[in-house]
Amino acid sequence: MYENLLADVPTDLWIGGKWRKASDGGRFDVIDPATERIIASVASATVEDAIAAIDAAEAAFEGWASRKPRERAEILRRSYELIMRDAERFAKLITLENGKALPDSRSEVAYAAEFFRWYAEEAVRNIGDVSRAPASGARILVHHKPAGIAVLVTPWNFPAAMATRKIGPALAAGCPVVLKPASDTPLTMLALMPVLEEAGVPAGVINVIPSRSSGKVVGAMLHDPRVRVVSFTGSTEVGRKLLREAADNIVKPAMELGGNAPFIVFEDADIDAAIDGAMIAKMRNMGEACTAANRFYVHEKVHDEFAAKLTARMASLKMGNGLDEGVNLGPLVNKDGRDKVIELVNDAVEKGARILTGGRVPDGPGFFYPATVLDNVPDNAKMLNEEIFGPVASIQTFKSEEEVIRRANDTEYGLVAYLYTRDLSRGLRVSEKLDFGMIGLNRGLVSDPAAPFGGMKQSGIGREGAHEGMMEFLETQYVSVTW
Ligand code: NAD
Repeated sequence: MYENLLADVPTDLWIGGKWRKASDGGRFDVIDPATERIIASVASATVEDAIAAIDAAEAAFEGWASRKPRERAEILRRSYELIMRDAERFAKLITLENGKALPDSRSEVAYAAEFFRWYAEEAVRNIGDVSRAPASGARILVHHKPAGIAVLVTPWNFPAAMATRKIGPALAAGCPVVLKPASDTPLTMLALMPVLEEAGVPAGVINVIPSRSSGKVVGAMLHDPRVRVVSFTGSTEVGRKLLREAADNIVKPAMELGGNAPFIVFEDADIDAAIDGAMIAKMRNMGEACTAANRFYVHEKVHDEFAAKLTARMASLKMGNGLDEGVNLGPLVNKDGRDKVIELVNDAVEKGARILTGGRVPDGPGFFYPATVLDNVPDNAKMLNEEIFGPVASIQTFKSEEEVIRRANDTEYGLVAYLYTRDLSRGLRVSEKLDFGMIGLNRGLVSDPAAPFGGMKQSGIGREGAHEGMMEFLETQYVSVTW
């Protein structure tokens, strides 16, 4: 049915501006999570291929870094325009390999493309600083150089955006990259390469190497002394491994890791606005987002209204193949992902949670799980400490501000927190006390290319987006001058 869409999608490795097979001929299958059908077979990079990609990046580095910032900016801007030209094709491809419903995929494409537009504008603003040393009177001249070859490793939940959020700033800074996309969703990035080539990105500046041997391939690159940056988005567990690997050659790490977002609804909140925000914070990407609201804390005075309204909205979602019009809840990405959701829901229910809607797995094929609301979730339920990564909202009540701040902060994660209140001074006071890198204050969506995205504690190191995102790919150099 969707053969036409797949006909033009490349399935080999993109190294030095050319498509090539894996050195050992290895390949792996990509599956449509809505039908469980194999939709493509993709080359699986070996360590030898990874080193070839680093060679290609090295060959491209000097030329790219020495291009005038305006030239790099124009190429990034053109990349934005060409992605938007092909937006519908990319959206369908994302749905096909990831499962998310088309409206989610369309939003992702727009968000992903925006990183090229934003960094086209930042590429010309690599600004330094001059001052006088207080004691010696020498000039302190500070400027920022491209850090070097960057290895990018991305997850399956946003096959386009998690990669462009790294590629945009890296290219703006003047760094060539080697990208290893997630094995569940390699097609979107492979399909993007001819578009970026058309936009004028020179050979070797971006290399894409899907691989079934992620650990070995990424490990080998991090031990290659030419690699200077590793930018990873994925689980905290794998992030920890990569930090250890990066330690040997002191490779500069940027880590966007897991989350466990609280969503707090105070008694003075606009409940309808909170429901709208909750639907975005919980259901964008079927809950498969690091920013997904994982724990709903609702003040006991407004709990019944909030729970009833959220249940009605969740129950009204249409589940089905994400490519079909009208569907807004696609399948989860794979069997393991769904099994984890089933296990977390069973655990909470066994411990006393009440199902308000959903909770029953439909017959196959496809890794579907319905929109689910659980009330009275007990404190010892596993889902309060782990990422659910599925369309399940867990509700608890609270009585006081101090109590909810303490409970919200009681996690090793610190990516994003949401809170709803009509009292702005309370909103800002509570925001400041929450140990999260991002706060949605009366908003269920924080992601924005112009804002610094990232987490505290075990949710990561560094920021993506905004000017800060480009700094991850720059090294600061200071020249002490007498003139
Ligand atoms: P994952 O950690 O399993 O995989 C991420 C990437 O790392 C994939 O490309 C994978 O192939 C690769 N990988 C796996 N093991 C590796 C190893 N030993 N060495 C090198 N690479 C390895 O994560 P996932 O399941 O793809 O994505 C979901 C996770 O990503 C969630 O925890 C989510 O919170 C997180 N995430 C975080 C952000 C953020 O910005 N903070 C954004 C999206 C997703």
